[in-house]
Amino acid sequence: MADMVQPILELRNVRKSFGSDLVLQDISLTLPEHNVKVLIGASGSGKSTLLRCVNLLENIDDGQIFLDGQDISEVGVNQDVVRSQIGSVFQSFNLFPHLTVLQNITLAPRYVHKKNEDDSNREAISLLERFGLAEKAHQYPELLSGGQQQRVAILRAVINRPKVLLLDEVTSALDPVLIAEVLALISELKDSGMTMLIATHEMGFARQVADEVIFLHNGLVCETGIPSELLANPQSAQLGAFLTALRGAGRL
Ligand code: ADP
Ligand code: MG
Repeated sequence: MADMVQPILELRNVRKSFGSDLVLQDISLTLPEHNVKVLIGASGSGKSTLLRCVNLLENIDDGQIFLDGQDISEVGVNQDVVRSQIGSVFQSFNLFPHLTVLQNITLAPRYVHKKNEDDSNREAISLLERFGLAEKAHQYPELLSGGQQQRVAILRAVINRPKVLLLDEVTSALDPVLIAEVLALISELKDSGMTMLIATHEMGFARQVADEVIFLHNGLVCETGIPSELLANPQSAQLGAFLTALRGAGRL
């Protein structure tokens, strides 16, 4: 099957429980290179757990997870090496407050990827310039807006050239104007070819960047589709109910 292109990320029948709580029942999905897939679903449907299993913050109980062909769920896998190939950004901007923007961004390149200081700084500055944050390079995070902090947190992941970028509700702590800034950055990353798996409750975001939307319900992939079709024309009662609730809350 020479014409089959290997996905960057593949989950096969992944199962995860917390005690007696079966949070991911049987999740399979594939994420081809340069694709963006967006996970939606009610709070508690397992979106964050799924992302945490991918970057090995949680062990899965059953199934397999492949990163660029390597089974990263296997016992004995080098977790640090795997994590160095995955970029993760979560809801709360976890920048180090005692380091400047530039120092935050160059930390992993210098100490994990062992690049020299000059090269790391040059690359970080060019990334900050590209995304309109160059004048913030020498400031401390507390002087930045929430949207700026979250953009820096995303660039800090991007500079390591991850094979896949995982974003978990990266806009949920932000006001609408700041959300727009962060979404613009993510759209640009998509245009530059970044492969991403994103959990969000921003449907506008899903519409804008998703090649495919994955609707999770009770730890199962309930429905998938391109955003325009899936959001306009749900096939399952569960997705219908979820969209109705969003509409009722003025979020769709
Ligand atoms: P979502 O991100 O879609 O809101 P989560 O993945 O955070 O959903 O949570 C799915 C379920 O797993 C919830 O019922 C949550 O309470 C439970 N859960 C998540 N993390 C843990 C944990 N560390 N220990 C116990 N239960 C957890
Ligand atoms: Mg979550």
